[in-house]
Amino acid sequence: VSEPGQIMFRGVVTTISVVPIPDSRAAPRVTFLDQVLKVAVGSQYSGSIEAAMERFLRRTVRVEATACLSVVAPKLGVVPGRVEVRGQRTKWGNCSARGNLSFNWRLAMAPPHVLRYIVVHEAVHLVVPDHSPKFWLTMQSMCPETERARQWLVANGERVMATGISRALH
Ligand SMILES: [Zn+2]
Repeated sequence: VSEPGQIMFRGVVTTISVVPIPDSRAAPRVTFLDQVLKVAVGSQYSGSIEAAMERFLRRTVRVEATACLSVVAPKLGVVPGRVEVRGQRTKWGNCSARGNLSFNWRLAMAPPHVLRYIVVHEAVHLVVPDHSPKFWLTMQSMCPETERARQWLVANGERVMATGISRALH
């Protein structure tokens, strides 16, 4: 098991600490505590730590998106359908015609206000499907961080979007 080093997590370069469990084949368990991502893994585990880390990042996006939606959806008077976390190559989030929402796992690398912005953006699409003035007015009232998040995405979005999990760990 090699030490993957660091990853951008919630907008901060974060150290990954691999803690081997002796004489064990235990699959990796990732926890975030005291600003460190700890990976406890059996010393004889033969799978990939990268895959475990991507699963953790996906879970993080799901938990945070769900928490954000539970606040925002009632304010908008909507009930979202399924919430999925995907690895889209070109989209941070999507709202389907059936009202299902999907979010990119790479949002776990972005600062929390950017994740919130994307979640609110897709939730507002449940009410206003286009990017009309009504959409942006609703965004401004639901998400005061809209402008700051959009600026972050302009400056960093392409680079983070191009990141695969093996390149995210360095
Ligand atoms: Zn949109």
